[in-house]
Amino acid sequence: MRLAGAVDIGATNTKIGMVTEDGRIIRRSTMPTKGTEPDQLVDAIAIVLRQMLDAVADERNQVAAIGIAVAGFLDREHTMMVANPNLPSLRNFALRHAFEERFELRCHLEVDSNASTVAEYRFGMGRGASRLLGLTLGTGVGGGVIVSGKLLRFTGECAGDVAHIVVEPNGRHCTCGARGCLEAMVNSAALSERGGSRKPADIINGAKKGDAASISAVAETGRYLGRGLASLSPTFAPEKIVIGGGLAAAGDLLIEPARKSYDELVADDFRGKVSIVGSNFDGWEGMVGAASLALASLD
Ligand SMILES: [Zn+2]
Repeated sequence: MRLAGAVDIGATNTKIGMVTEDGRIIRRSTMPTKGTEPDQLVDAIAIVLRQMLDAVADERNQVAAIGIAVAGFLDREHTMMVANPNLPSLRNFALRHAFEERFELRCHLEVDSNASTVAEYRFGMGRGASRLLGLTLGTGVGGGVIVSGKLLRFTGECAGDVAHIVVEPNGRHCTCGARGCLEAMVNSAALSERGGSRKPADIINGAKKGDAASISAVAETGRYLGRGLASLSPTFAPEKIVIGGGLAAAGDLLIEPARKSYDELVADDFRGKVSIVGSNFDGWEGMVGAASLALASLD
């Protein structure tokens, strides 16, 4: 079976693992991204990845490529990330080359939200959708669109900054300079603020245990999510929408209020016709998609 090393560099955490060509994760690890210089970050990732490569390599398993997903827009040649206010340290750093230097393997660099959407399309909740919109909710909010099996790439090698549509005119300030963007209203910081400055994971766990304040913080986040999805639907006309990223761990506590506000606001053509579901990857979809794209780039 072919395998790929996989790295998903987010603004807060980096995920590292080994993924089979049918989308199964057989090794996984996380480390903080923040506060690390680019070369130090790649060195630290390379140590973990090297150990995983050594551990899985035998006659039956062949590690054929490394997939790297990074939050932000890419250059046309997929060599570096060129824009992301949440991750300024990696901007214009030759990320793909840094991995190629350290490993004798083909390396593929991808926008993280594209990688996540590919994982949903090939192995996850978006399987078989003719038009799929994938949104990931974390430090930032990213989106990817697949139409008839192909990723839309028209800005920064992805579908643009889909999360910077304004959903609340007097809403939170956004890293892009506007206010009330979907990203600013549904990211980790927004949920944290609604939940009394607790960590998003603690709020989500609290909500699952029935804590009323936590449930309300998650539900309000979901309502803004539905509002954003209602605005994005006439643009991308998705058949299905998959919500991933760390906040998707809230499951239906987040998705159900999103569906409700979506149906209240969306154009008639989409009401009741678009399936909105949570990811099953538990936040690992970017890594799975990066691995899959890296293996596909060999064929
Ligand atoms: Zn914005």
